[in-house]
Amino acid sequence: MWQVIGQARSVSLLQQSLKAGKLAHAYLLVGPPHVGKMTLAINLAQALNCEADEKPCLECNACKKIAAGTHADVRVIGMEQNEDEAEAKLIGIDQIKEVQHSASLPPFEGRHKVFIIDGAELLSADAANCLLKTLEEPEAKVTFILLTTNDRLLLPTVVSRCQRLELAPLPVSEEARALVEDRKIEPERARLLAGLSHGCPGWALAAARDENTLQRRNEEVNRLVEVIKADYVGRFDYAAQLASRFTQNRGAVYEVLERWLDYWRDLLLVKLGAADMITNIDRRSEINEMAGGYRLTQIKDYIESIRRAAEQLRQNVNVRLALDVLMLDIPSKGVV
Ligand SMILES: [Zn+2]
Repeated sequence: MWQVIGQARSVSLLQQSLKAGKLAHAYLLVGPPHVGKMTLAINLAQALNCEADEKPCLECNACKKIAAGTHADVRVIGMEQNEDEAEAKLIGIDQIKEVQHSASLPPFEGRHKVFIIDGAELLSADAANCLLKTLEEPEAKVTFILLTTNDRLLLPTVVSRCQRLELAPLPVSEEARALVEDRKIEPERARLLAGLSHGCPGWALAAARDENTLQRRNEEVNRLVEVIKADYVGRFDYAAQLASRFTQNRGAVYEVLERWLDYWRDLLLVKLGAADMITNIDRRSEINEMAGGYRLTQIKDYIESIRRAAEQLRQNVNVRLALDVLMLDIPSKGVV
């Protein structure tokens, strides 16, 4: 009963290794946020400690405790659950020393110790070197699972000690189907959530549980449409707001730019006659109408502008300037 959506190749590899008793001592799960890295790691920890024949059963005491985060032999280190918070903290050497000590002791209540390091790119240099020692002299009955969005930010020596599994975003249609079949989400809603999540089902599931997520997205898109129609004063005002938001919560601003990109990509798809592929399916008529007001090249150029602005924000160059330019670049309507 593996709960991760998609990722058939990684799941079957882990299943086979479990069956053959040939698990690696350390795994590195690489993939974008919400793609399913933590779910897969928890499922592996459950499978290693499950008391039933079909592992993980999700029903036995061990499986339940691991899911609830109360199993003494399974620990999650690192990133706070709430990724919206401003800056993620580094994982320090003291945390890893404690892990090292705990890994040297036998399992306490289960069969196998599992340490999940979430956001492994945030290991400080000292912490990474300390972890490396543990990975070089693996204990029996101990498995490390490192999760990261970008393994190029890890020490190559750490990466080389782990078996690397890449978790790629799912095709939207596959994700939508899984949301309907496994999670009983209504098809139209499943398609919308799958599109907005960019193939990362964790986001879609969170949005299905919490209405606020979709509402926030609706507000962002409404604002986007207003800004497109606004004059320069309104646009620069918006850029200033975004810039000040960026200092408090970068993630939120990256998400806004993702929505802009989605929207303009939708306009492009409509222009290209592929309207059935758009992301914002709950805004079909608005998008059709909007697409009619622009030339194809205008839309293409503006998509490039959004990409460029996002890139500049990530490089932390003059944020306000990047956002002002993004506003200046909004193409004028009515020149078809
Ligand atoms: Zn179980």
